[in-house]
Amino acid sequence: MIGSELLIEITYLIATALFVLSLKWMSSPTTARNGIWAGELGMALAIAGTLLHKGIVDYKLVLIGLVLGAIIGIPLGKVAMTAVPQRTALSHAFGALCVTLVGTSEFYLRAPNIPPFMMAVLSMEVILGSLTFTGSLMAAGKLQEVLPQRPIVYKGQNFVNLALLGLAVAIAVVLVLHPDQVKLFPILIFIPLVFGVMLIIPIGGADMPTVISLLNSYAGLSAAAMGFVLNSKLLIIAGALDGSSGFILSVIMSKAMNRSFTNVLFGGFGQIQTAASGTEEAKPVKSATAEEAGAILSAANKVVIVPGYGMAVAQAQHKVRELYDGLTKRGVDVKFGIHPVAGRMPGHMNVLLAEADIPYDKLLSMDEINGDFPQTDVALIIGANDVTNPAARTDASSPIYGMPILDVDKARTVMVIKRSMAAGFAGIENPLYHLDHTLMLFGDAKGFVGNIVRELSGGGGH
Ligand code: NAP
Repeated sequence: MIGSELLIEITYLIATALFVLSLKWMSSPTTARNGIWAGELGMALAIAGTLLHKGIVDYKLVLIGLVLGAIIGIPLGKVAMTAVPQRTALSHAFGALCVTLVGTSEFYLRAPNIPPFMMAVLSMEVILGSLTFTGSLMAAGKLQEVLPQRPIVYKGQNFVNLALLGLAVAIAVVLVLHPDQVKLFPILIFIPLVFGVMLIIPIGGADMPTVISLLNSYAGLSAAAMGFVLNSKLLIIAGALDGSSGFILSVIMSKAMNRSFTNVLFGGFGQIQTAASGTEEAKPVKSATAEEAGAILSAANKVVIVPGYGMAVAQAQHKVRELYDGLTKRGVDVKFGIHPVAGRMPGHMNVLLAEADIPYDKLLSMDEINGDFPQTDVALIIGANDVTNPAARTDASSPIYGMPILDVDKARTVMVIKRSMAAGFAGIENPLYHLDHTLMLFGDAKGFVGNIVRELSGGGGH
């Protein structure tokens, strides 16, 4: 008996250490792979340790759960990298639903004999769990574009949202004082379920990265609260790690998008976005062929490549690597400018470029590269749009006004590879395309970069 309990404790301790190491290692591209292995091993040990518990009377149900989870989880793990944000939002939704269901069963098992501290953490668990459940489903729906991405705003929205949250907290307080008021419990779950929906509807597409990491944080905190309810140190630690890392990421993302700390805490409260029209006026643009682009690039001394979501969609990273090789061979100094919210998930561009073996020291963050643009001959934008939009600096009515951008317009020549004049994720026009020194290179990122590479290697045009 003592032996198996000791074994469980040791398993949990190793799992906890692996979770901490996993986070530490994931913070650098050179150790990120080990970080993933450590996290996976930690989770496997946590599950194994839990299965050793004497409290489990019947393994049949556990097995059914494991099989069902695997049936849902394996296809989820195989989605394209561009769909990872919505996949992550779905994982948060499942986790939060689980936390809410565990909290609900614990309440009905224990009521009315629930001490105040226990009832307080149980309330926190189900409030955070249920608002994260619906909020994450909404975020996944918006990212998958099955729900409208435009913010839906109405007068008094902040008041309604705060009132809902206040009501849920008030009911929690009543239950802490009178845990025998069992009939109030379903309302304690229902209100945050509605709140989760209301929290996300006013938030537009461009703010989604912050929302996803914020929901990550909420899911972690609800799991930590569940750890108190179930008296599980492992859950408390894992939930706290998840909650705090999600929160730190939210702060980093909000800084990258120029959102205030209150916006982070309250998931975009108070931010009424006047969504600009995504339709492009027929303003003139200059376009160029791969042959012309190749000639300009090979005559340059300094080139900064700015990748974005379009590079990910086209899976153009390996062609970009060939372009990098071709240019460096000719003595051109090539660097990459990475915006923190380029693509559809934090680190999206870093992962793709690392996959194509671009040296890490050539990937520079927005703050590191922005000073270089005035001395740059060519800023080559590959499938990026919002993160290069100068309207963020100048147009106070723009939904992305205030978001720091890559200052590509300061380069001597700007070249933009994209298929059309269509808008990016935020659904807004980009004045960069109409500047005198901007050349549009219309085409699929992979195909167009491939054509430039052929031009550089003397393969000729067509
Ligand atoms: P973006 O603003 O979404 O623009 C991507 C551009 O790529 C589009 O304008 C599109 O134009 C082009 N494109 C699409 N497929 C292409 C292809 N096959 N070949 C060439 N071009 C292609 O992307 P971004 O500049 O990377 O900015 C990211 C946006 O996503 C920001 O608004 C950010 O807030 C948001 N977001 C980021 C995250 C995150 O964590 N990184 C998460 C969610 C949302 P065409 O259709 O004309 O080709």
